[in-house]
Amino acid sequence: MFVVTQSLMDSKDAMTMSAIVDATIETTDPDTAPAAVTREYITTLKTGIQPSPEFEKKGLASHAVNVGTKCGHDCSYCSTGSVLRMHDSFKAAGEDPFGLGYAIVDPTVPERVAYDARTSRPENRGMVQLCTTTDAWSPEAQEYALGRKCLEAILSQPGWSVRVLTKNAAVTKDFDVVKQHRDRVLVGLSVTAPPSKAQIMRVVEPCASTIPERIAAMKEAHKLGLRTYAMLCPLLPGIADDLESIEELVQIGLDFGAEEFFAEPVNPRGRALIHTAGTLRQAGYNAEAAAVDQIRHEIEWSGYVVRLVGNVQAALRAQGVLGKLRFLLYPAGLTAEDAAFLREHGDGVVWLGKE
Ligand code: SF4
Repeated sequence: MFVVTQSLMDSKDAMTMSAIVDATIETTDPDTAPAAVTREYITTLKTGIQPSPEFEKKGLASHAVNVGTKCGHDCSYCSTGSVLRMHDSFKAAGEDPFGLGYAIVDPTVPERVAYDARTSRPENRGMVQLCTTTDAWSPEAQEYALGRKCLEAILSQPGWSVRVLTKNAAVTKDFDVVKQHRDRVLVGLSVTAPPSKAQIMRVVEPCASTIPERIAAMKEAHKLGLRTYAMLCPLLPGIADDLESIEELVQIGLDFGAEEFFAEPVNPRGRALIHTAGTLRQAGYNAEAAAVDQIRHEIEWSGYVVRLVGNVQAALRAQGVLGKLRFLLYPAGLTAEDAAFLREHGDGVVWLGKE
């Protein structure tokens, strides 16, 4: 067991970085227990349930709830730092938005979520994604039961539904809430590689549940009769972008009754690829690190996307479920030739952003 204490800091900014937590983390088996971030900050956001046109375009949800600005799962490829880099909470914490090893959480989010859920006009209600830039079941969010409280607040009001997206099997503790509203909730734990790659993924997703734990959670959801979807995102080059791995993932998704299959390439923004390649190399996964490094070149990234789309389509087509595919794709970064190819062979591709 070890204890981490971070000193307090105050800010008069709209985002108040007010306090800090004594994070006590118990680890029993260093080989299987998740790692943990070493610095945890508390912030107060302004938002509860927000409309999310971008996620609506993705076909995921019309609204979003987020429980902080930095998720303690600490995935090396996380793109949230790029999206939220100007947010005051990073400055208040004295942390680099692109850095690793810390979390920023807002324990008060459920209060605003409850208010918004209650006061939104009926015509403005819809599906809420929990979450889009953080994770409501990350270790620091669990300390305040943020996932459960947000679920209860949203589902207590009519006209709302929820899409759960997490990388933490702790969500299973809240399946009783989901079960009470099973028609209004879709459950998804990201499955980013087949179980045979679990050790490698532990390196790049150090504080999330293991791949087998996530799959077990999805199977439990299915067994309870909950609605599920598959989130295969991101499928990293050299680890989970080959046809064999994707066929295995599709079979796993079918086994847990996925209504839809979402897939995405790794987001190359910010330092995601540099961090991921460096982390893999440090752990001795040199071939995988080289594969990630390679797609830092635009033309290689474009080629990786074309191969990935083809493999995901092939795996779903072979099972007769290509119609369930939602391959989320920002065309920026594709070569003109690859973009034209995918336009022609884009079954299941959801085109996003500016072209
Ligand atoms: S679980 Fe998602 S939000 Fe959290 S660090 Fe990983 S990629 Fe980022």
